[in-house]
Amino acid sequence: MVPATPSDDTVATNLAAVSARIATAARRAGRDPKDVLLIAVSKLQPGAAVAAALRAGQTRFGENRVQEAAAKFPALRAAYPALQLHLIGGLQTNKARAAVALADTIESLDRPALADAIAQAAEREGRLPRLLVQVNTGAEPQKSGIARAAADHFINACQARFGTALAGLMCIPPLAEDPAPHFAWLAACAARHGLGVLSMGMSADFETAIAHGATAVRVGTAIFGGRPPAGAH
Ligand SMILES: *Cc1c(COP(=O)(O)O)cnc(C)c1O
Repeated sequence: MVPATPSDDTVATNLAAVSARIATAARRAGRDPKDVLLIAVSKLQPGAAVAAALRAGQTRFGENRVQEAAAKFPALRAAYPALQLHLIGGLQTNKARAAVALADTIESLDRPALADAIAQAAEREGRLPRLLVQVNTGAEPQKSGIARAAADHFINACQARFGTALAGLMCIPPLAEDPAPHFAWLAACAARHGLGVLSMGMSADFETAIAHGATAVRVGTAIFGGRPPAGAH
């Protein structure tokens, strides 16, 4: 069954609850809650769910497919100029230009060919989104992300090429593992490179991620409820 679009009330209540949990986790870690951004992951949710979140004051959203984001966001952006769109899914090089045109942040920079495509697209579009390098900390074949062993070299190359637009790192730990060592590894890697942004933590583990230094958490289900299956809308 396709879940119904969540009501404004549900989305507002869920957003408040997630924000409160973020604040509690930040304080417990001795951090300022304002230093942890909430990215509402709206992939596979209808535009109406995004609009409900916008009405509740949420401005930062995450999508994993360029085409879906391009269909949903331009109209909402016109109504809510503060809207910030993060692309968080694996990116094909042939989608780089559309991604660069659309996104405020691309969180899935994970290989030299994609860095080339983004650089070329940035030149053509006259804009360069903020970039995060995604690391496949669990070495999962089905996941995007540069391998741990190749990360330092790739990050150095991206910093040389993109300067401060290369803002930080992102990871998605394996579902079945304790995420804490993955978050700790990513935080140490970011520190080695002087990178301030750490995008880590989802509905199931964002409090652990905050304890390990996450500056952005990507939360979908805890805000919007279950996702409709791909292709259902
Ligand atoms: C879907 C997704 C999320 C959100 O996952 P939830 O478990 O629904 O919070 C976060 N990050 C990425 C990269 C995703 O694809």
